[in-house]
Amino acid sequence: MHGDLPELEDLGDVRGRRVLVRTDFNVPMEDDGTGGRRVTDDFRIRAALPTIEWLRERGASVVCASHLGRPKGKPEAKYSMKPVADRLDELAPGVELLENLRFDAGEEANTEEFVARLIDGVDMYVDDAFGAAHRAHASIVGPPRFVPSAMGRLLAKEVEVLLALRERPRHPFVAVLGGSKISDKLGVVEALLGVVDSLVIGGAMCFTFLAAQGYPIGDSLFEPDQVDTCRRLLEGGKPIHLPEDITGVDADGKYATFGRRLPSGAKGFDIGPGSAAAFTDIIMEARTVFWNGPMGMFEDSRFAHGTRTVAQAMADTKAFTVVGGGDSAAALAQFGLEDSIDHVSTGGGASLELLELGVLPGLAALRKAPNVS
Ligand code: ADP
Ligand code: MG
Repeated sequence: MHGDLPELEDLGDVRGRRVLVRTDFNVPMEDDGTGGRRVTDDFRIRAALPTIEWLRERGASVVCASHLGRPKGKPEAKYSMKPVADRLDELAPGVELLENLRFDAGEEANTEEFVARLIDGVDMYVDDAFGAAHRAHASIVGPPRFVPSAMGRLLAKEVEVLLALRERPRHPFVAVLGGSKISDKLGVVEALLGVVDSLVIGGAMCFTFLAAQGYPIGDSLFEPDQVDTCRRLLEGGKPIHLPEDITGVDADGKYATFGRRLPSGAKGFDIGPGSAAAFTDIIMEARTVFWNGPMGMFEDSRFAHGTRTVAQAMADTKAFTVVGGGDSAAALAQFGLEDSIDHVSTGGGASLELLELGVLPGLAALRKAPNVS
């Protein structure tokens, strides 16, 4: 058990048992040129192997289930699990894989009928899909109501690292936040302010904070309805570091670097070099760093400098480093730095929600499984 969360060992004897494993096989795919689709990165399939192999080595028969993309509750050829099933069969021959869970509207609606279908013939349930654990969907919260259940290895690792960050971080603890939308992340900003020693803010998020301090931000991305909240957070007592310079384009669309004040018509797309250096110093001096959200529009190489610099600092610091968020993880991979980070979370929304609340619907469901209570 991890706290009161059951792990694989808590399932008891799995020999001869049929075990449903909820995996996150939401993998990137492309057209294969002959009308079919193929998996372009099998990382998420390989990541589920430790759990699958643990069960199979002990004589269980494993059936995996996952969603893929966003089909609207009915079958759609481009979201078929078939290419994933083929790859899984190469990596773990004989493991079954159900068709895309979201081909049935009962998955997202969490209907009794769909849960009953999922557990039909199933003796036990394992949740290894951290990226979906914040959703109260049928395959996440349904089976643990009926059969002995546990966290798989991937889920257990995520929970261990993220709850440790929330409950007993080594200080100084710094959170570095960026990305596009503040409104998505304000909850976690507030929760983090309770545990961190300081907050570093870049990305498009910084403009709403700068506006709250009265700086002109030109035509940069900005969420007017969040200004008051940002002002309240800035006055909350914990240090919040904002960029001292900004890179972007001027009113004529030409690449330019500015101070904290953006002229009218200018748009900020990255933190400037001075800010990148200042943020590096803060990361190097910390003992725990959590990073979520790129510092700029890093997909455009002109505006990747801030994100690259922060990623490099994350790799170089002696601090314990955790990165959450799909785009942040993609940035690390693009710079070839993911192996230098202590923990790269597989869940964007789920990692933020776990940090914010300390619990997720999928974890709450496991706590009430028949083998626990
Ligand atoms: P994550 O997936 O890591 O949680 P988000 O989804 O919140 O991150 O944000 C990532 C996106 O934010 C990227 O596509 C990036 O281009 C965009 N972004 C970051 N800074 C800016 C900016 N200054 N202006 C516009 N877009 C930005
Ligand atoms: Mg994202």
